[in-house]
Amino acid sequence: MKCEIEMEMRSCAACGVVMAANSTFFYNRREDHKEFYCLNGHSNYYPQKSDAEKLREELAQEKKKARELQIQLDKAVMPKKRGRPRKQLTPLK
Ligand SMILES: [Zn+2]
Repeated sequence: MKCEIEMEMRSCAACGVVMAANSTFFYNRREDHKEFYCLNGHSNYYPQKSDAEKLREELAQEKKKARELQIQLDKAVMPKKRGRPRKQLTPLK
């Protein structure tokens, strides 16, 4: 039986020692921002937003924009409330 695992390597931010783990591990750490440790015990984590997080935020902003535009559109299209008809004013002569 042959088993292939895709590995990634990263170096520790503190001491530079090379760490190797499967790609899923590093992907998950970029997503959850949890700490992981190098062989020398230094804590490492990804503080920056992952691509997935950036895209989720962008999507949320676009949805918000679409909602606002829909509200504006509804207001523009909705028939205006009809008040009492104005009395015809007789022009002064
Ligand atoms: Zn280290």
